[in-house]
Amino acid sequence: MLYSFNNEGKYMVMFNPEIIKKSVAYEAEEGCLSLTGTRKAKRWQSIKVQYQNEQFLPRFKTFTGWTAQIIQHEIDHCEGILI
Ligand SMILES: [Zn+2]
Repeated sequence: MLYSFNNEGKYMVMFNPEIIKKSVAYEAEEGCLSLTGTRKAKRWQSIKVQYQNEQFLPRFKTFTGWTAQIIQHEIDHCEGILI
């Protein structure tokens, strides 16, 4: 599984991302390119992600706010969940 995104203007690539820590749940309203309209989803304000970088080295990184929400949305997709 490969996941790439823009983190505050910086391009990042993650292989096999996995959320290992999350805190402060909230209800989000999200739209999706593969759906029409928006749906409610439970998201976390802060997540710690374990992944492998381009050299397949294990890495950990904490994301918050909007970036964290995008990652949760995309990881859901990778697991076959549409929001
Ligand atoms: Zn989507």
